[in-house]
Amino acid sequence: MKTLWTPWRMGYILGEKPQGCLLCIKQQDPVEKDRENYILYRGATCYIMLNLFPYTNGHLMIAPYHHVASLEQLDDKSLCEMMALTRVSVAALSKALSPAGFNIGMNLGKVSGAGIADHLHMHVVPRWQGDVNFMSVFAGTRLIPEALNVTYDKLLPILTKEVSHTR
Ligand SMILES: [Zn+2]
Repeated sequence: MKTLWTPWRMGYILGEKPQGCLLCIKQQDPVEKDRENYILYRGATCYIMLNLFPYTNGHLMIAPYHHVASLEQLDDKSLCEMMALTRVSVAALSKALSPAGFNIGMNLGKVSGAGIADHLHMHVVPRWQGDVNFMSVFAGTRLIPEALNVTYDKLLPILTKEVSHTR
């Protein structure tokens, strides 16, 4: 098994954790701070934001506004929109970044590796052929943190267009 080497994630692992739930804090911030918070879209029940400590470029998350830890606790409307926004995200990332594939999924419970175990969220991780090697080469240069703004600005108009197409 190949492992993605992502040393910038140490900043997250070792860094100060915000008080309270990150996914609740971000959604409660004013809309004017959406770019700063890397929030790409706010739906009726869920929102999309870039992962601040991504596994690959374009790694984003779709989270319901409701602070629930399990799928069983999530209402149907939120569940449906989470999946619809997953589809929109895949379409937008495909156009913006031309990945060769995706990993999509949820980590349920701390033991599964969930960073924010109390607040359900879907990960969408674009993948490229050989990205494991690519990441190893570039990770030491802290490429990813700077790339977040670039990715956000590139993805935002495409994603906004995708959402309007599918709704
Ligand atoms: Zn929360």
